[in-house]
Amino acid sequence: MVNPVVWDIGYLVSAALFIIGIKRLSSPKTAPAGNRLGAYGMLLAVIVTLARMQSEGKIEMELVVGGLVIGGLIGFTMAKRVEMTGMPELVALFNGFGGAASALVGLSEALKHIQAESAPTGGVELYAIWVAIGLSGLVGWVTLTGSLMAMFKLKGGFTIPLTKKWVRFPTWGPPWLNFVKGGLLLSGLALIGLTVDDPHNAQYVYALVAVSCLLGVLFVLPIGGADMPVVVSLLNSLSGIAAAFTGFVIGNNVLIIAGSMVGAAGLILTFIMCKAMNRTLPAVLFKSFGGSGDKEQLTRTKVGSDPEEVAMVCDGISKCVIIPGYGMAVSQAQHAVKEFADILEAQDVEVSYGIHPVAGRMPGHMNVLLAEANVPYEQLIEMDDINGELPETDVALVIGANDTVNPAARSGEGPLGGMPIIAADKARVVIIIKRSLSVGYAGVDNDLFYENKTMMLFGDGKKMMNELNSAMKEL
Ligand code: NDP
Repeated sequence: MVNPVVWDIGYLVSAALFIIGIKRLSSPKTAPAGNRLGAYGMLLAVIVTLARMQSEGKIEMELVVGGLVIGGLIGFTMAKRVEMTGMPELVALFNGFGGAASALVGLSEALKHIQAESAPTGGVELYAIWVAIGLSGLVGWVTLTGSLMAMFKLKGGFTIPLTKKWVRFPTWGPPWLNFVKGGLLLSGLALIGLTVDDPHNAQYVYALVAVSCLLGVLFVLPIGGADMPVVVSLLNSLSGIAAAFTGFVIGNNVLIIAGSMVGAAGLILTFIMCKAMNRTLPAVLFKSFGGSGDKEQLTRTKVGSDPEEVAMVCDGISKCVIIPGYGMAVSQAQHAVKEFADILEAQDVEVSYGIHPVAGRMPGHMNVLLAEANVPYEQLIEMDDINGELPETDVALVIGANDTVNPAARSGEGPLGGMPIIAADKARVVIIIKRSLSVGYAGVDNDLFYENKTMMLFGDGKKMMNELNSAMKEL
């Protein structure tokens, strides 16, 4: 039998790797190394756990190796096949799997205790075990069903098998739904209390699973419009909290540490996202933003410009701010955008990028894409800072952004109401590259398209950027 101190030292090293890894994620320069350290920490934690269970005779290796191979193959194939634009949905799905893993461990521990004659029947141990099991189940199942809802909402809907009919996901949340959600939460907590009172009754455990799954669905159903980033980061935090509870259930320190770190980091991100949307967390959770999820019907028209015209406007300017959005990710235009910036910089034009915190479909989406195209990090300017510079900007080039530059947000009404935007409309000339006049994620028409100083370059982001670059070179 191996001395248990060996396992504790292994867990301590892996926890230290997580902490140093997370610290290094705070700067783009050290982030790749931080990511690697976190992955090594996780590998070490897995190896230590397996070795410990093997030495204690608790596992059958065939089952573990089989699980690792099957899970690894599925994960590898999904990550390989996913399009860059599908990453947010994949991240939401993985959050859900994290919650499900915690919930299933909680469930198996609960059933084990219910069946075991030796299960504790009183005292602190009973409370500690059942409360931890109950909370890991409650939070874990909420995370699973909530994340699945978030995934379908990010996708916009799903195809019904056989009929191949596309069904759009609704955003629905009458005020009374908050009472239902509150009732379900209280019922979940009451069921945890009942399992403590009657620890051999499996019905309470199954009822808790049902209540938590329903709560997860109802929790995400009313959230629409532009508020999804808050939900996605909150679910990420919940998956960590569920893992931490599971760590208490099975007495695994590294799971408690890693889960708490994911929970805390996700919560910080949630508050950053709330600030970006100018919302409070209770308002997002209970107020049902985003209306019915219906998109506004467009009646206005605008004549488009061509790349040669736009190139002439860009000739001789001294300051340009590039504002990227989801459409840049869809068209993978980041390299062409960088080439455009290089052409301007060769002509002594000052170029910077205005980054909205919720641009794209996941936190940091634009930063990742622009870093991939080797855009210097110092040129990525946060919303509050770039807004001060836009009135002195000759050209604001908006590529694939819509909600994040929509002046309708200033009105305080509708799905975007109150969300701070990048003030592209304050620049002297606005160039917008997108395929049509259609609305953005929140479904709100954008007055900026129709302003006299706005030139619309209609077409795929990458194609239009390449044509614009060619036109610039020919001047
Ligand atoms: P939007 O989603 O508002 O708009 C993107 C625009 O890109 C569309 O209007 C579309 O117009 C255009 N587009 C799509 N494909 C292409 C293409 N191939 N080439 C050129 N343009 C294209 O983008 P923003 O980034 O401004 O806003 C993000 C929105 O997503 C916000 O509402 C935010 O709250 C929400 N959100 C953000 C998350 C996050 O974590 N960042 C998570 C979930 C939601 P057209 O069809 O005419 O081309």
